[in-house]
Amino acid sequence: MKAMVYTEPGGLEVIEPITLPMPEPARGEVRVRVVASALNHLDLWVRRGMPDIPPSFPHVGGCDMSGVIDAVGEEVHGWAVGDRVVINPTLSCGQCEWCRRGEDPLCNDFAILGEHRWGGFAEYVVVPALNLERVPAHISLVEAAAAPLVYATAWRMLITQAAIRPGETVLVIGAGGGVNSAAIQIARLAGCEVWATTSSAEKMEAAKALGADFVLNYVEDEAWGRTIYQRSGKRGVDVVVDNVGSASWATSLRSLAKGGRLVTVGATTGPLAETDIRQIFWKQLHLIGSTMSTRGEFSAVMRLIWQGKLRPVIDRVIPLADLRAGHELLEGGNQFGKIVVQVGEE
Ligand code: ZN
Repeated sequence: MKAMVYTEPGGLEVIEPITLPMPEPARGEVRVRVVASALNHLDLWVRRGMPDIPPSFPHVGGCDMSGVIDAVGEEVHGWAVGDRVVINPTLSCGQCEWCRRGEDPLCNDFAILGEHRWGGFAEYVVVPALNLERVPAHISLVEAAAAPLVYATAWRMLITQAAIRPGETVLVIGAGGGVNSAAIQIARLAGCEVWATTSSAEKMEAAKALGADFVLNYVEDEAWGRTIYQRSGKRGVDVVVDNVGSASWATSLRSLAKGGRLVTVGATTGPLAETDIRQIFWKQLHLIGSTMSTRGEFSAVMRLIWQGKLRPVIDRVIPLADLRAGHELLEGGNQFGKIVVQVGEE
């Protein structure tokens, strides 16, 4: 099968086309003919290389994928060749303490398709049948592939971990990212007032189109923390979504109302930031982490996409051969929404 791989950890130059042997599904697995696979920031981290991630090179990345079942392994029930599917990228053992509690993303053997195991930037992928979700006929497989990682992550982050409620004000830092554009839609759907910060006039318009009630440009408004404070009637907001990290952390904390919650699933500008601990106890703030999702959360959010209540934002669709250009685009950060790689035809 044809694939694009990372030949070793490194820059854009390590992304190369290759021909690989056809993978065979083991017990409990299916082989999917990949139609589309979306890019995530995670793909950039995997390509650059982290200790033991991915486990070996060459590596096939791509955490989000959709396609058509092409072969079914032993002991797979309820799935057949020809079924249109989208794949939950979270892999968990199902047996450890955390899995028994239903907390798949805390699994001791937690892994992600495309990161710890080969993913969707290839004509075929082998995945556990437990990770499949059926795609209804009215949803294109390109649209389906744009959804899994960012919507499941944003859903767990806001609905389960931050436990947002109707009427609360949710501030999303950096509206252009995939998780954050999903977060704007989910917070809006949950009945929250949604505020967002972003870096250009075009992104401000796009954030408003997604449902943000108020958007500010943090490049032009360097003292944006003050703007949030004033606009909230010197109260602050109930929830801040900060996946930006060191560049915004201190201002995000200051933007919270008493009893407010800061939730994070990432730190794109760096993982180290100063926290004024006095703010935490005086204002009784909550710092909340989140990552990926459980199977139940994945199913719940995909159902809302099938119903049209949440709509994946697609910046552009590129062919698999242009994967290197896709990485370059995502690294530049000028996209709004997902870059989807079309691997095969529907
Ligand atoms: Zn486990």
